[in-house]
Amino acid sequence: MADVVVIGAGISGAATAYELAVAGADVVLIDRYAPAAMASGWTLAGVRQSGRHIAEWPLAKAAVARWTDLDQRLGAPTHYRRGGNLRCARNEAEAATIRRLVAAQRADGFDISLIESAEIQRIAPLVSRDVVCGSFCATDGHADPTATVAAYIVAAERLGVATRFGERVLSLEVVDGAIAGVVTDKGRIPAGSVVVAAGVFGNELLDPLGLHVPFETMSATMIRSVAIPPQFVPVVGVANGDTTARQEAHGQIRFGGGHEVWDGAMTEDPLPSVRPAAASIRDLLTRFVGLLPAFADLRIAETWCGLIDQTPDAIPVIEAFDSPRGLVVAMGFSGHGFCLGPVTGQILSALALGQASPLPIEPFRLARFAGMSPNTVVELHG
Ligand SMILES: Cc1cc2nc3c(=O)[nH]c(=O)nc-3n(C[C@H](O)[C@H](O)[C@H](O)COP(=O)(O)OP(=O)(O)OC[C@H]3O[C@@H](n4cnc5c(N)ncnc54)[C@H](O)[C@@H]3O)c2cc1C
Repeated sequence: MADVVVIGAGISGAATAYELAVAGADVVLIDRYAPAAMASGWTLAGVRQSGRHIAEWPLAKAAVARWTDLDQRLGAPTHYRRGGNLRCARNEAEAATIRRLVAAQRADGFDISLIESAEIQRIAPLVSRDVVCGSFCATDGHADPTATVAAYIVAAERLGVATRFGERVLSLEVVDGAIAGVVTDKGRIPAGSVVVAAGVFGNELLDPLGLHVPFETMSATMIRSVAIPPQFVPVVGVANGDTTARQEAHGQIRFGGGHEVWDGAMTEDPLPSVRPAAASIRDLLTRFVGLLPAFADLRIAETWCGLIDQTPDAIPVIEAFDSPRGLVVAMGFSGHGFCLGPVTGQILSALALGQASPLPIEPFRLARFAGMSPNTVVELHG
């Protein structure tokens, strides 16, 4: 019998399995597809504190500190780079948004600056000269999502975590009000505790227990170029989050944005894949070249859609439940759970072991949605 079964080998589940193993627990990490097969592979992978809901600040701050030496801790590269986050205003309306964001975050004591056109050109000379102003947070950055999840999994396996990929959890087993294990398409795994870090599919496992995390599944179009020589260091985005770009460690420009409600279309061959519509690719390319005109001739290597679990208040559910006992859930990250991954792992590990969370998670309780309007808030990400 495992102490804990962790469902989902995205960054949340992989980090949790690693932290549990560090704590000496007997862990099974299971994924219906493969590591980073969904949001944690589809992501832009910005690592930022700026532009966040205040409830996430303690977590984002702790996460950025944790990212600093994550490579050494895991013994493998995450390609984390603290190059800043530049958020641009393309017109006066967006400038007003940026000014409000900077004023609010500075009033709350956060180190973010309002910068004008000349300073933007110094930080990222390829950004369009039409940009009116921007916000800059020097302690933000980005990392390689697939490498990071792989690094967590190798480190977890080294510490004895049993990994089972290509195996789908069909249901959670509850006996006398407590988690007793999981049933998969290959058998049963008895366990004292279960962590559900299953992203947009998490409710399939929670609904039969009478629990449901409310979110709308949004689809964001993503594009990746061929590798080119180094061009810019920060994550470069815009006020409403519809275009965000970064240059990866090996030179590819990864960019995306534009949320649409997901229509449910997905292929599994064998990994899950959601294909973008031609018009979404066209619109993203138009916005991207408008923001970074020097890339008009950039060669495109890949396109995909990433699915986002957008909750009504754009912050996640992170909670250990009393009913059933032994159930821990982390879902609904609303397009910004990659940065938080290292601390999500620490929090979920503590909760699964029956300990107090090392960081404040009261704002992330599921019960907050009782009586809340169903209107979703599309949050800034990147
Ligand atoms: C386009 C896009 C851009 C983003 N940009 C950013 C960004 O810049 N910065 C940031 O911080 N965040 C960003 N995010 C959000 C971030 O990537 C996610 O919040 C984060 O990766 C979620 O990780 P996770 O491990 O919780 O979920 P996931 O990575 O979705 O992992 C869930 C896993 O559970 C598995 N699973 C599901 N059901 C089952 C089952 N029944 N049995 C077994 N396994 C199951 C799935 O196969 C999957 O691998 C972005 C997301 C997208 C899609």
